[in-house]
Amino acid sequence: MKHLLLTISLTLLLASTCFAQVTFDIDNRNPKVNTAKVEVQTTKICQIVPKLAGLEATDLHITICIAKDKQEFRQVLPKDQKETPKAYYIRITKTLHFYKYDAYVFAHELTHALVDEYIGGKLPEKIREVIPTYIETKVRDVY
Ligand SMILES: [Zn+2]
Repeated sequence: MKHLLLTISLTLLLASTCFAQVTFDIDNRNPKVNTAKVEVQTTKICQIVPKLAGLEATDLHITICIAKDKQEFRQVLPKDQKETPKAYYIRITKTLHFYKYDAYVFAHELTHALVDEYIGGKLPEKIREVIPTYIETKVRDVY
């Protein structure tokens, strides 16, 4: 009986936990990229990541901008950045810029965005990478 009550309370607790709601717009500038496919993958990742990261509330609306090409993508990067990453998130505009869309990279970057929203400030570089890298690995296990 005691176990049953514990199970019921745990189920109710988990059911009542409200995880962060992530909504998005897609600005696809690359005709070679299938917007419908990106939308399906993004929707799924937006449901998985807040639960895996245990991030409650902190709703977030982002724009996913898929660049036409490398040259267009590089325009959003800081001028001193030599490498070309797959994606780059700009917190002020809440826009996640992609050179090439990838669901796992999206999961990583979305975690950065949610953590940034949650703590409302910057963490030191190395600490900053720990949670998104962990979540990206977890998403690879389940998706
Ligand atoms: Zn990162």
